[in-house]
Amino acid sequence: PEEKSLNFIEEIIEEDLKSGRYKSIITRFPPEPNGYLHIGHASSICLNFGLTKKFPGYTNLRFDDTNPTTEETEYVESIKDDVRWLGFEWKNELYASDYFDQMYAFAVKLIEKGLAYVDDSTSDQIAAMKGSPTEPGKDSPFRTRSVEENLDLFTRMKNGEFPDGSRTLRAKIDMAHVNMLMRDPVLYRIKHAHHHRTGDKWCIYPMYDMAHGQSDSIENVTHSICTLEFVPHRELYDWLIEKLEIYPSHQYEFARRNLSYTVTSKRKLLQLVNEKYVSGWDDPRMPTISGLRRAGYTPESIREFCTRIGIAKRDNMIDVSLLEFCVREHLNKIALRRMVVFDPVKVVLTNYPADGSFEIVKSEDNPEDPNTTHREIPFSRELYIEREDFMENPPKKFFRLAPGQMVRLKSAYIIKCDEVVKDSNGKITELHCTYIPESKSNADTSGIHVKGTLHWVSVAQAISVEVRLYDRLFKVENPSSEEGDFKDYINPNSLQTITTAYAEPALRNIRFADRCQFLRKGYFCLDKDTSEEKMVFNRTVTLKDTWAK
Ligand code: ATP
Ligand code: MG
Ligand code: MG
Repeated sequence: PEEKSLNFIEEIIEEDLKSGRYKSIITRFPPEPNGYLHIGHASSICLNFGLTKKFPGYTNLRFDDTNPTTEETEYVESIKDDVRWLGFEWKNELYASDYFDQMYAFAVKLIEKGLAYVDDSTSDQIAAMKGSPTEPGKDSPFRTRSVEENLDLFTRMKNGEFPDGSRTLRAKIDMAHVNMLMRDPVLYRIKHAHHHRTGDKWCIYPMYDMAHGQSDSIENVTHSICTLEFVPHRELYDWLIEKLEIYPSHQYEFARRNLSYTVTSKRKLLQLVNEKYVSGWDDPRMPTISGLRRAGYTPESIREFCTRIGIAKRDNMIDVSLLEFCVREHLNKIALRRMVVFDPVKVVLTNYPADGSFEIVKSEDNPEDPNTTHREIPFSRELYIEREDFMENPPKKFFRLAPGQMVRLKSAYIIKCDEVVKDSNGKITELHCTYIPESKSNADTSGIHVKGTLHWVSVAQAISVEVRLYDRLFKVENPSSEEGDFKDYINPNSLQTITTAYAEPALRNIRFADRCQFLRKGYFCLDKDTSEEKMVFNRTVTLKDTWAK
């Protein structure tokens, strides 16, 4: 395969391996289990796991579960499912909460070295003493506490003697530091809350900065990759590792990936779920991995998308059309072709036997596949075609059906429209047509050339299915940057349900793992709402980029 040029993190690693700094590398994907993974996370997953596919080493899955109030086991399970589904296998399943004892010991060590103190200030007071980027902060009155007093108070914090918010443990660095995060950052806070793994064992919890780098270090992570908003944290990351004298993991940052016409923030996605704008985390309109999966996206297409966008050093918005392009490309190769009529009008072939008989025509399952199999489709006197494929007074270049005009019915015959039958309201109820017996596909001796080919089903054998058509969840490219609430920009027409569409009978054999192309309609997959009574299909994506901007 063609060698793609290395991204900047790969370049760093290649250099590190060449120089002998490392013989092999360890990376980790570190989700906080406070929501389902989304397409932005897929970038981070592909990057972290991709690095250890390319270079010697391995990748861990580490749950960054240090915030007890937002985290749940449901999220842990969904994250594991999603990473696996994307096609990656982690070396170790790890939890930051498993290191709480170790982190506590680290905190004690900092206190003993005179590098951390217990502060009785409230969070508002701490904020008020922080200063600003142009002004130094003020030392807390508790900053000069003795090591003994700090050790005593920290032990009592751990033992549950103090209420939430009454005290914190802070690093003793420099209240005039140019980097605001280095102005005596809070390392531990009191939170009497039940944790999804440690239960009620702890009532103090480490802050992100006191947990993340320490977990990296405990695991000997060589390259700890995070998103750009952590650039200012790097100094503290390094400071803590240095002062604790622990394994020197290093942090590298890349740009967050945002997708147009959606939001990629777990907090906002949670609002959409809780406030019932969508049916759940796996609603096919959601940019979550589970939503994309339910919509019919393939792991291959998401990995391809992540490869194409690569990694960047500046935050940017990726056009959702690229994601749709990637899934279209893959589905075109693998999807089974089937015919489904969404809004039928009946065609009666007046020169076809009226005794209820039918014949079988064959059609390729996938013309992109040189070894394609074929399916059998019944063809008979009464057919359905799409109502919009007929026009009584067509404009020029309307190559579909019209009075006196001919079209081919896919894999079957050419038909000609002779008569339009209407009800008393003027609504078209039937199109009386004749078929050209010599025009059968693959055996056409009619010499007739038509420009249009329509999909169709035979009325008697058609099965009815439900079809769900999805559109973008938001009306604007970047809902988060608009004025007001992002939910004001939700597209009210993002779901259109066709409760009864008519499908050729071969659709009945479709399984959950299959992907279909409904001819001229788009790519579809079976939805989990399918029951014994009714098959339900989701549209993954249209055939072309037809979205009206
Ligand atoms: P959110 O704001 O959605 O909660 P997060 O960064 O807090 O995102 P984490 O669970 O901490 O979510 O993310 C796990 C990993 O995935 C982190 O390393 C994070 O940097 C990365 N990540 C999260 N969102 C994106 C994104 N949009 N693009 C690229 N990487 C991301
Ligand atoms: Mg995070
Ligand atoms: Mg978060």
